[in-house]
Amino acid sequence: MRIDLHTHSDRSDGTDPPAELVRRAHEQGVDVLGLTDHDTAEGWQEAADAARRTGVTLVRGIEVSCRFGGYGVHLLAYLPDPTYPPLVAELQRVLDGRNARLPATLERLRRLGIDIDVDDVRAVAGETAAMGRPHVADALVALGVVRDRNAAFGRFLGPQGPAYVHRYAAELEAMICTVAEAGGVTVVAHPWASRHDHSALDERGLARLKAAGLSGIEVDHHDHPTGTRERLRELARRLELVVTGSSDHHGTGKPGHELGSLTTAPEQLERLLDLASAASASSGRRTPEVLQRSTAS
Ligand code: AMP
Ligand code: ZN
Ligand code: FE
Ligand code: FE
Repeated sequence: MRIDLHTHSDRSDGTDPPAELVRRAHEQGVDVLGLTDHDTAEGWQEAADAARRTGVTLVRGIEVSCRFGGYGVHLLAYLPDPTYPPLVAELQRVLDGRNARLPATLERLRRLGIDIDVDDVRAVAGETAAMGRPHVADALVALGVVRDRNAAFGRFLGPQGPAYVHRYAAELEAMICTVAEAGGVTVVAHPWASRHDHSALDERGLARLKAAGLSGIEVDHHDHPTGTRERLRELARRLELVVTGSSDHHGTGKPGHELGSLTTAPEQLERLLDLASAASASSGRRTPEVLQRSTAS
């Protein structure tokens, strides 16, 4: 049983349409796939149709851009009712922040002598509902300024880069509660990734998130060195949090994150799904067309 709970389609900053992502997952021997586009559920329907055709079990998710202790944190929200009004409203604020950042980023590039306009980025961004730096990176690649996304982040778009612009993100503890009220569960994504400052996500911070309703920690992630994974696994055990593992696949946008390259243990998925059932029982909200338990076990 191969379970990959964190992937992106072209509805955010992955490069494959949702149906193609599911098809590839099936081809790579992934049995359970989490589609977790940034800040949007836009790809769910297409992915669900493809999942039904291929026999892949789809776990519907969203990777929500959050803020905690002044730092950016990504929160994986699984199986919320995507029509829950407070969730819809907060995701819209995040998406508005993404759209507002784009012209500001392009203005900074212009001052560096690189002339790209919003339409150029929209042209390379295709179907995305979550405009982001990776799309600006793609426009820089198209213009021949850099070789790939990674180089664009290194030279211009990373937090220390000359074209970096801050954007709105949801308050983390409030979002954990909102997702629970929407009948879903939350897992903190790559909390100790090397390129993030994670001082707010130490044991005390994670214990606070658990108290707010957090269900799990993404331990096995490519941005966590081996030693980090083992320390996080031990911490998750102490805090009784679910341990997940995933590829964070972005298609050709992020080499080294192949589908199914890191996975979640079946019993950990079971725990997560039990917690999601409990959340929807107490909130009265559930993901439309929730996945079949029988195919996940
Ligand atoms: P944004 O959502 O616009 O703030 O951009 C963050 C996204 O860029 C995340 O999905 C990351 O996966 C992606 N990203 C961050 N650093 C890099 C990098 N060095 N190369 C490629 N993608 C990156
Ligand atoms: Zn991404
Ligand atoms: Fe992330
Ligand atoms: Fe991600």
